[in-house]
Amino acid sequence: MPNIKSLIKKDLIINGEQIETEKYTTLYAPYSGEAIAEIASATGIETEQAITAAYKARETMASMPAWKRAEILETAAQLLKDRTEEASSIIALEAAKPLNTARQEVARTVETYKFAAEEAKRIHGETIPLDAARSGENKLAYTVREPIGVVGAITPFNFPMNLVAHKVGPAIASGNTIVLKPASQTPLSSFFIAELFEEAGLPAGVLNVITGSGRIVGDQLVTDERVSMITFTGSPAVGIGIRNKAGLKKVTLELGSNAAVIIDQHTALDQIASRCVTGAFSNQGQVCISLQRIYVHEKVYEEFVEKLIIETKKLVLGDPLCSETNISALISPEETKRALSWIKEAVKSGAKLVTGGEVEGTVLQPTILLEAGQSMKVSCQEVFAPIVIVNKVTTIEEAIEKVNDSRYGLQAGIYTNDVQTALTAADQLHVGGVMINDIPTFRVDHMPYGGVKESGTGREGLKYAIEEMTEMKLVVWSRQ
Ligand code: NAP
Repeated sequence: MPNIKSLIKKDLIINGEQIETEKYTTLYAPYSGEAIAEIASATGIETEQAITAAYKARETMASMPAWKRAEILETAAQLLKDRTEEASSIIALEAAKPLNTARQEVARTVETYKFAAEEAKRIHGETIPLDAARSGENKLAYTVREPIGVVGAITPFNFPMNLVAHKVGPAIASGNTIVLKPASQTPLSSFFIAELFEEAGLPAGVLNVITGSGRIVGDQLVTDERVSMITFTGSPAVGIGIRNKAGLKKVTLELGSNAAVIIDQHTALDQIASRCVTGAFSNQGQVCISLQRIYVHEKVYEEFVEKLIIETKKLVLGDPLCSETNISALISPEETKRALSWIKEAVKSGAKLVTGGEVEGTVLQPTILLEAGQSMKVSCQEVFAPIVIVNKVTTIEEAIEKVNDSRYGLQAGIYTNDVQTALTAADQLHVGGVMINDIPTFRVDHMPYGGVKESGTGREGLKYAIEEMTEMKLVVWSRQ
C-alpha cells in the first residue's frame, strides 16, 4: 500500500498556505475503526479568511486566458493519473470504498478534469439577430459568458474525489475561484487534489479547502455576500436548508434519490441480474443513483429473483484495501444501525428477506427484499445502503406509476425489447435522466446530470455546470 503517513495532520488551505486551527478532529477509517488523521476544524474566522482569499483571487482567474486554465486542468489530471494508486488508497481508507471501485473513481476523476480542460476552450455566447424587432434595426448584438466569481462548493462523502472534481473542474474552467468544504468523513481526498492543483500551477487563493462542521462552514458560505454561488451535493434535508437561506445567490443542488429500474418480459435476464447487482451494491449502495427499487414483469419475476440472488451471493465482503473486496463497511456504525432498522421495519410490515440482512464484523451484507410496500422506508426513502427491493408488476404502465410515486426523481432505467414501451417510458418517467436498457446507476461525467423533485435543481456534467457557473452578458452595438 502506498505511504499515506504524510497525511496524518491536515491543516486548512487558504490562499495557498496551510493554516492551523485551534481544534483538530480525529478521522477514523470506517472499516477498521483506526485513527487515520487529525483534521483541522475551521471556525467562522477561518471560513471568512478563505472567502476573502477567494474573493481577492477573482481578478486573477477572470483575466486568465482559456488556454492557461485548460493547461492547469490538464496538468492536474495528469498528476492525478500518475498517482492513481495513492489516490485510490486514500479514498478506500477514508470512505471504505473497495479499492477497485476507488480506482474506478480516480480514473473517472482524471476524465472529469480532462473534460473540464476541454470545455474551458469553448465557453462562448451567440450573436442575436436584433433586427427581428422593428426597433432593433442597425444594431449588432452578442452575448458573452462571464465567470460568476466565488463559488462555494459543498461535497458529500460517497465520491470524495470525483464529486469534488465536478465542482472544482468547471469552476476553474470558467475562471472562478472556490471555497471547498468537503464532507467531514472524507477530507483527505480534497487535500490531496488541492496539492496537485498547486503543483499544476493554480494561483494561490483560487482553491481554498476548509474542513470542519458542515453547519458552521456551510452557513457562512451560504450567507456571505461575496460568495456568488453555492454548488451543493448531498442529502435533500441539508440541500433544502441551504436553498432556504441562500436568498438571491445562485444555488445548484444535487441531492438524493431512490432510483428504480423496470424489467419487461423477453429481456436478457442473466445480464440484467448481474448489472442490477452492480447498480444496487456498488460502494455499499452509497451512490446517489444506486439501484434501490426493481419492478419486474410478473411473467419473469421468479426467474429474475433467482438470478439476482445467485449474482448477489458472489460478492466478496471485507477490507476495502483488499483488491478482491466488493462490499465493505458503511460510512459509519450509525448508518449500519439505521439500515438494519429499515430492513427490520420492512420485514415486520410484510416484505420477504431472501438474502442478507445481517452484519459481518462492520459490513452489512447485501440485502434483497421482495414485495416491499410503497410506504416502507426501504421503498419511499433513500436507503443509501446495500439494500434493494424487488416487486412484481402486471403491466409496464403500473411499473411507471410506481417509479414515479416518489418524492425523488434523479434517474430511472427500463429494460425492454419493445420500442413503443421504451418511448413511452422515456416520455412518462418523471426524472432527470432515463436509461433505456440499462440501470439508473449509469453515469459518465460529461453527460447532463441532475434531478427533479427532491433530487435537486440544476445540472452537472462539465458543459452544463459551466453554464451554471457563468453569467450571460449581452452587448449591443448601434451603428452610427
Ligand atoms: P450530507 O450529510 O448532506 O453532507 C453533504 C455535505 O454537506 C457535507 O460536506 C456536510 O458536511 C455538509 N453539511 C452538513 N450540514 C450542513 C449545513 N447545515 N449547511 C451546509 N453544509 C452542510 O450528505 P452525505 O451524507 O455526505 O452524502 C450523502 C447524500 O448525498 C445522499 O443523500 C446522496 O444521495 C447525496 N448525493 C447526491 C449526488 C447527486 O449528484 N445527486 C451525488 C452524491 C451524493 P459534514 O460532513 O461536515 O456534515
